[in-house]
Formats: sequence, structure tokens, C-alpha cells
Amino acid sequence: MFRLRVLQALHGDCLILEYGAPDDRRFMLIDGGPSTVYHDHLKAELLLISRQGGRVNLAVLSHVDDDHVNGLLDLLHDLVDELRAGQPVTITVDGLWHNSFSQTLGPVLERGFARQVADAPLPRGLMPGLEVQARSISQGDELAAYARGLKIPINVEFKDTPDRLACTDNTRVPIQVGNLSISVIGPTRKSLEALQKEWEDWLARQAKVRALPEGEMEIAARALDMSVPNLSSIMLLVRAEGKTILLTGDGRGDQLLEGMQQAGLLDANGAFHADVFKLPHHGSSRNVTLELFERITADTYVVCADGKYGNPDFQTLEWLVQAASRQGRTFTLAATSRTPSTDRLLQQYDPAQFGYRLEILPPGAHSLVLELSANAPELPRSVDMLKGIGPVYARRLRDAGILTAEQMLALGYRRLAEILNTGENRARNILEAAGNGA
Ligand SMILES: [Zn+2]
Repeated sequence: MFRLRVLQALHGDCLILEYGAPDDRRFMLIDGGPSTVYHDHLKAELLLISRQGGRVNLAVLSHVDDDHVNGLLDLLHDLVDELRAGQPVTITVDGLWHNSFSQTLGPVLERGFARQVADAPLPRGLMPGLEVQARSISQGDELAAYARGLKIPINVEFKDTPDRLACTDNTRVPIQVGNLSISVIGPTRKSLEALQKEWEDWLARQAKVRALPEGEMEIAARALDMSVPNLSSIMLLVRAEGKTILLTGDGRGDQLLEGMQQAGLLDANGAFHADVFKLPHHGSSRNVTLELFERITADTYVVCADGKYGNPDFQTLEWLVQAASRQGRTFTLAATSRTPSTDRLLQQYDPAQFGYRLEILPPGAHSLVLELSANAPELPRSVDMLKGIGPVYARRLRDAGILTAEQMLALGYRRLAEILNTGENRARNILEAAGNGA
């Protein structure tokens, strides 16, 4: 088994990797997307896995940011509530990889942030970077606290290293779990040191701004650039059944190349070919280059974005097409949403002429499935993919415990009409379409 489910995570990331043997299926959850993703999509996917006897063998938070952490917080919060109420849990989670702020950047810097936040508060919104970072630190701490409460071990695969950090330098050889081999290609210790330096400089500049008289302080604070790039994302290369998937969080292309180099994964030309490459940072052109796409190539590129902040940038998509076209490669672009940039790509680069295919997750559907096994067992049809079932009906069905087409077909039109709160004729039409395979 080896397949990747790309969930509808709006402007964030949420991925489920399935591996193991058909009679021992295992699941890895990578990020949880921004708020609403858990309740609208992730929960239904997890219930379906749980109902088939599966569990989350490993959850990974690439980095603490709203668009990656919220779904994981919602999941663990749900699990805590279910346990307290003595209810069956949505799903069992066996382990978590998560690098806390203090672990990653040191307690001194963490205390520096705490002081900045506590000190003479500036008008709200004046220091957006500081506010975002303060929130991230508390979200990371919250996640770790929930995990401890649920007895989910954190970074257990790195327990024999001095800092217990999920990073490239702490894994000399790939980590084996079931039939899956995981190489940690980011963050590297070097990139974390660079990040630490950038934050220290930024804090020093903050302190200077705060020392100014009030009028000047406001002007200087507005001018203070807050664009510390993300160098701390956990990036992974996972391999099973001779296929590879690159998971890059919100990392940066140069860091990706450096981490792959350090892990000994690049060939003599400094290149690597993956079956699937999840583009870093929602396809932002600030994280990638044309050269990166000439060196790290793939058959399928995944882009998790919905147009927010302009992601994916048209420039990124254009580089993908240009790199493939120069090298005479064809590829699939799998996107979670149609965006102005995907429209423009189709207009300016004819897929037939440039040898690519654009696959977009249908609106309202939970996930797009990328199958990497040659002879994988068939998946049950999830209700969100059926004709006539939009997000609202999918949620009503999920709340009634109906997750698959087969379960829905067994209901009969009267019960289905009740659950959907709709007319019996409409329920009949939906059942007929599902029965005909639509
Ligand atoms: Zn992100």
C-alpha cells in the first residue's frame, strides 16, 4: 500500500499517507490545515479509516502556523472530550512529531519573545510579526500539552538524540516504519541556526523601536520588516514499494536542496526525481526557483492552496511547465482548488502542447487520492464524491455515521431524506445516481 490523500485544506496543508500491507494498513497524518478543515473534511476521513480498523500511526506537524496546526489541535481537542465523556474516540493516534519553539530555537529566544509580548504593549496590529509568533508559541505548547494528556509520545524516534528534535542531523539513516522508509530532509541544524540568528536580530530591532519616543515609535514599528522566512519546517522524503513522495511543509527550495544533499539523496548532477512532490509553502514563488524545478523533478506536483495571498503564484506554475518542457518531461499538477493562477496557466500554456495535466479537487469533496501502488485494493467510495452530495449533505451524512456510498445505499430513500432533511424524490435521485456509480 502506498497512497497519498491530499485533503481540501483551503490555504493550508493537510495530507494523509497510507502505507503498510493490505491486511496491516497504516496511516500518517501530516498537518491539519486551518480552522474548519478538521470539521469539514479531516474528521470524515479519519472516521472512515477508524471504521476500517485503522489508526493514525504517526501524526507530523511540519511547523506551528495557523494553516497547519489548527486541524491537529481540533483533532486532539476532540479526542480529549471523547475520552472524558467515555465515548468511543474518533481515531487512535500513536505518535506525534513536533518541534517546539524552545526546542528548535532555544529557551533564551523564547523568553525574549515572552518579554516583548509582556512589555509595554504597542497598539494592536502594530507588531503583527510579534503577535503571530506569540500565538504560534502558545499553539505549539497547547498541542504538546494535549498530546501529553492523551499519552501520545512526541518525537519518540529521536529520543536518543540530545535535543530530541525531528531534524536532518538527528537521523543518519532513514527511519523504518512498516514498509515505509522516512528520510528527514529538513530542518537541518544549519538552517535552524540561521533562523535563530534572524529572530535575534529582529528582537534587537524591536527593542530599539520600543526605546523611541511614542510618535517616532509608531512610524518605526510600521517600517520594521517582519518577513523572517520559514526555515524550521519538517521536510520528509518517504519511500515505499520503490516510489517516493517529497513532503516539504512551508520550507524553502534552497533548504530543501541542502537537506537532500546532507541526507545523501542527490545524484552526481545534484538532482533527484520523485514520484510525487508536494510544493513548499502553497506554491509561493518566494520559496522556489526555476533551477529547483530543473533539479528536483516529479511525475506529480501537489499544490495545497486556494488563492489566498495569491497562492499558488502563477510564476511557480510557469516555472514548473518551463522546467518540464526544457527537459522533455510530462507531469500532472494536482491542486486542491481552482485559482486565478491555474486558470491563467491553462490559458497561456496549452496542456496538450506543453505535456501536462491539471487535476483539481472538486469543490466540496474531502480529498484527492494519489495512488502509488501498482495493485492497491479498491477504495470505498466516500459520500462527498457522489453526485448530488455537496458539503452540507456530506456533513449531515457524516453526523449520522454514513461515510461511504455503500452505507448510504443501504439506507433507503425514506431514511436518507430524513438525514439530509430533504424531499423523498431528491433522496431517490441521489440513491439512483450512487447506485449507477455516479
Ligand atoms: Zn502554510
